[in-house]
Amino acid sequence: MGNKLVEALSSFTATSQEAAPDILVMNFTVVTACMVGNPDNKAGGWTLIDTGLENSADFILQAAAERFGENSRPQAIVLTHGHFDHVGSVVKLSESWDVPVYIHELEMPYVTGKKDYPTADPTVSSGVVAKMSPSFPHSAIDIGYRAVALPADSSVPGMIGWKWIHTPGHTKGHISLFREKDRVLIAGDAFSTTKQESLWSVLTQREQISGPPQYLTTDWQSAERSVQHLRDLKPSLVIPSHGKPMKGEELTKHLELLVNHFKEIAKPEQSRFF
Ligand SMILES: [Zn+2]
Ligand SMILES: [Zn+2]
Repeated sequence: MGNKLVEALSSFTATSQEAAPDILVMNFTVVTACMVGNPDNKAGGWTLIDTGLENSADFILQAAAERFGENSRPQAIVLTHGHFDHVGSVVKLSESWDVPVYIHELEMPYVTGKKDYPTADPTVSSGVVAKMSPSFPHSAIDIGYRAVALPADSSVPGMIGWKWIHTPGHTKGHISLFREKDRVLIAGDAFSTTKQESLWSVLTQREQISGPPQYLTTDWQSAERSVQHLRDLKPSLVIPSHGKPMKGEELTKHLELLVNHFKEIAKPEQSRFF
């Protein structure tokens, strides 16, 4: 029932907004996904980063048609990790576009039907989303041969100037994406700008730096190191999967705060995954 509520919420309220001239962020309320590619240079191609929930596909297809033209398809889909709110529409979209889906090799088992994630841990917080999190889908999806491991040299096929960065902790093979030129960071679930455990924060999108969503994070030591790693990149704009984009001095300050007080801000007092 929790998951149905999340799906319903997201389908009524989906919106999209440019975070940079070549980045469109689609916000499905509980999670975001984005299109990277310049609509003024359609020959340059574009890439979809994450795919929202299971009922996000139509919105994504429509947004793609509006931005890149009818029947346009990306050169690839890149997944930050395999959780349900990031892979929700990947089966449908990768089949209908017939494109490869790049993901870290440690996440491959979760998108090729080989391994399930653990059930979410509702004990991490008293927040409503945390309480309903055990109803979130956690079993592996299977996109078969379309799943391709990201190249070992940190490049992202089709995304010139971008690098993928291994940011484990939330999941083993979690990645973020960084573009050196303008220091744009697509953070995935390495950290958030909303308290994802709380329904109130999710609905109001109140900006608040936070760690990775607690109920699904399994390795807090790695998660902390990953946040430090991202802080060290000195991003000027971050697009998180949960919460709104944040930039400039506000981002620098919040990120510093998160690094210096990771235990108080990010880590739950208790968790089954400690
Ligand atoms: Zn996640
Ligand atoms: Zn997520």
